[in-house]
Amino acid sequence: MSMERKMSDRANELLADYHDAVVRGEQPEVESYLARCGPEEREPLRAAIRDLEAIAPAPVPVQRAQRVLESMRRARRNRERYETAQQRLRSVAEGLTDPVGFLQGALGISGQRLKPATEAAFYRQTPGHERPDMLSCASPGDVLYGDARPTDRRDPIGLVREERAGAAKRARRSDAEIAALERELDRKAEETLREHGVSTPPVDLESLAGEMLLAVAEAPIEAPEGCLVTDGEIGAILIGSSMPEPLRRRFTLAHEIAHFILHRDQGAFCDTSAELQDYTTELEQEANLLASRLLMPASLLRDRLPDLQSRPPAFALADGLCREFEVSLEAALRRMVRLSSTRCALVISREGVVTAFERSPDLGCRVRWNQSVPAESAAARLQSAGPGDTGGSRLPARRWLSAAAESSHASTDPLAATAQEESRRMEIGIVYSLIVLQP
Ligand SMILES: [Zn+2]
Repeated sequence: MSMERKMSDRANELLADYHDAVVRGEQPEVESYLARCGPEEREPLRAAIRDLEAIAPAPVPVQRAQRVLESMRRARRNRERYETAQQRLRSVAEGLTDPVGFLQGALGISGQRLKPATEAAFYRQTPGHERPDMLSCASPGDVLYGDARPTDRRDPIGLVREERAGAAKRARRSDAEIAALERELDRKAEETLREHGVSTPPVDLESLAGEMLLAVAEAPIEAPEGCLVTDGEIGAILIGSSMPEPLRRRFTLAHEIAHFILHRDQGAFCDTSAELQDYTTELEQEANLLASRLLMPASLLRDRLPDLQSRPPAFALADGLCREFEVSLEAALRRMVRLSSTRCALVISREGVVTAFERSPDLGCRVRWNQSVPAESAAARLQSAGPGDTGGSRLPARRWLSAAAESSHASTDPLAATAQEESRRMEIGIVYSLIVLQP
């Protein structure tokens, strides 16, 4: 710009305005500035603007700066909204019948239509869960759909029928797909914990949730053990305070945080005990696997990791994990079995029937699910024992296991092996059995 150019004060003022507009990232109209000064000032102003354009900050960095500013403003707004939501959650009352509606109110998004039910919401009907109490679980679950789904909540039987139909839509992941998913979720958990500065167990989930702008409260909700509502930016979580075990509440919170990390575009989740044990429906499987990794990330397992990988899982090892990481026995056992390079399985039974299981990655066969545990097993004997009682057995593996549908690439037939069982009965009648194949 030529400093010698003679410009009136008015033209200089207009030039400064024009410059400010450019810096703000606007695209000012040159003609509109020219029109605001006298005819004799127009040519010098036009020339000055042309010079200014040559040295003015390029529009791209200005836009980038604006985006940064905008994201800072949004972050501040979200933090304020989170703090308001956290305050509103403190007012949670007894007898909360519509947790999703309450959470929407806390987030200030009442009346917004939630997305239609997720895949998970349709799914309640697994052979292991075909129990009368599932009806009472399914009925409150319909709050999940808000007004997005024409479910008649006065007809729980109809709801279950509908879910049975929906269950057919589920696609099960293959073993290879699960292994790939687990690697991906390992990365995701490590990244999340690193980003929020978590470096020692037990992982402080409440402050992790706060860092992610998730308001959390415990509330006397019944069938759902955990609910998450999110608008994609921030979220609010209710954890059922009627759950007796604090470690189970902890897993539930990790599960809801995992939904926020992975599925924040989904709007709402209401998780009953069925979802929290669901390792087949895509979204619930993802949330459960990530929850386990948020609680017990490989990086924090550190010197335990070689043992967990090379030794067969055992209750004594799991008890150590439970204490150090403040996780439930089931969460610890599941994680151990998945980490183990020994061929093994965790079998969970209730009243003598296998209701859930976990397999080591290379087990090469299936667990006999929804069937009675072997009559000669300790698991069968422990049904009538007291909490904490333990026992074991050695039985042919085929008594616990059946051939895999997928072709096994194991070099030896796992069903021909002997299965060493170690079982423990828990307070609420659940029996956990670790099955380790002896070579
Ligand atoms: Zn869930």
